[in-house]
Amino acid sequence: MNSQELNDVLVVGAGIMGLGIAQVAAQAGHSVLLFDLREGAAAQGRDQLTQTLGALAVKGKITAQQAEQALARISSIASLEAAAGVGLVVEAIVEKIEAKRSLFQQLEGIVAPDCVLATNTSSISVTAIANGLQHPGRLVGMHFFNPVPLMKLVEVVSGLQTDKAVAQGIFELSQSWGKVAVHARSTPGFIVNRIARPYYAETLALLQEQAGTPGTIDACLRAAGFRMGPCELIDLIGHDTNFSVTQSVYEANFYDKRYVPSGVQREMVDGGLLGRKSGRGFFDYREGALKAAVVAAAASPVPEARAVCLHGRGPLAERFAAALTQANMAFERATGSDWTGLEVDGAQLRLSDGRTASQLGADVAVFDLPLATAPGAALAWAPSLRASLGWIDAAPRWLRLLGFAPQRLGDAPGLVVARTIAMLINEAADAVHQGVCTAEGADSAMKLGVNYPAGPFEWLARWDTHAVVILLDALDAHYRGERYRVSPWLRQRAWV
Ligand code: NAD
Repeated sequence: MNSQELNDVLVVGAGIMGLGIAQVAAQAGHSVLLFDLREGAAAQGRDQLTQTLGALAVKGKITAQQAEQALARISSIASLEAAAGVGLVVEAIVEKIEAKRSLFQQLEGIVAPDCVLATNTSSISVTAIANGLQHPGRLVGMHFFNPVPLMKLVEVVSGLQTDKAVAQGIFELSQSWGKVAVHARSTPGFIVNRIARPYYAETLALLQEQAGTPGTIDACLRAAGFRMGPCELIDLIGHDTNFSVTQSVYEANFYDKRYVPSGVQREMVDGGLLGRKSGRGFFDYREGALKAAVVAAAASPVPEARAVCLHGRGPLAERFAAALTQANMAFERATGSDWTGLEVDGAQLRLSDGRTASQLGADVAVFDLPLATAPGAALAWAPSLRASLGWIDAAPRWLRLLGFAPQRLGDAPGLVVARTIAMLINEAADAVHQGVCTAEGADSAMKLGVNYPAGPFEWLARWDTHAVVILLDALDAHYRGERYRVSPWLRQRAWV
């Protein structure tokens, strides 16, 4: 199926998603019929698209002629019967299974038997929506992301009965609409909404144990390359929406503790602190409110030491060696060491391996996985509960000398970036293990669906499977719950 073979498209639901889908389909050359149950909504939607396409032409993104042509292809219809001849229906109505099932059952009485039925659901099982259809093989998920014209990803979701050829046809059609399509099996959250859960959950867990503040945690993840920190992102999405997606993934997984929602977030939802839309969430958006800022540490004197030893080997150790040399700091090397970091007069500053600093000793501080290469990037660190005041004062100065902006956290295992990335990898590994998607599919989906700076398997290739498993096992041992259960896919590969 491609744009040429398939002519008319019916879009049902003229809301935010339906209008975006109609626009993209029309710009790809289809005649688009728009229907909405609410009287006048489809016609209003078309008016809105007139403005959108006009604005694109004014901005020079498309020509005035292209805008006119696309618009001429879109018509609103007042009754579904008017869509009898379409080759594809894309449904973007209310997120309720009964409404979607009854719409598709009604459509089966109107459209031809070979018309493909696609649902834009983000959380309902495609298998379940197809239940009761005369031709369940033609129902497929076509999951767009908001805003549809800008977001490149389409998850093509197959239920138990979806015909392979139908899924492949929608895959190719999405590509001909300028999208990147990724196949997914219909499981809770599909790819993106499932793999992304730890991005929020790990931050909420850190906040629950008061290991850091929203501003600090966000700064660390932004420094690791994420466009938005989890706290500002949840504030943008809305705590109610984010909480309900987490709850639906949790319930759909039979209350697997891996996905347990957060009490911190429930309290915010209960209190109406929903984020930007309510004026307050983790941050305060009301007029005149103080903007949250990560306070830059005052310049501090270069640390002094009698004996500095650089432990470990590999790119990070080399980067530290270069920084020490540049600072004219004499040091020895211990390349055979099983940890990476500095030993300064017997005190240790170690890259987190998932154990807390307190577990590792007295004058020990751990630092987070440094993904950023630019100098002055925020990096979390934590001292042991038994560290001397002298080491608590010196450790961040060493981190600064190594090129970071140290952010002190409580002594939580895996700090911020290491535990978040490890958990994203773990979730993606489970998705692949369960046949939800391929590793390449997971990488594309996370980069295009939620703008991650890299895909989970790209991070894994840069990190080390063995180290990820060790880190997750350390978290598991620390918290003793199901959340940090290592994916069998990862464990199988950790020793090869
Ligand atoms: P919306 O509320 O903006 O629009 C839904 C539209 O559907 C409304 O205009 C409503 O009048 C109409 N409608 C409701 N029931 C109908 C019916 N039985 N027949 C015809 N029209 C009906 O919602 P939205 O955000 O555009 O979401 C639509 C679908 O897309 C949902 O399934 C949602 O889960 C999914 N989705 C949303 C997003 C997002 O970010 N908003 C992203 C991906 C997928």
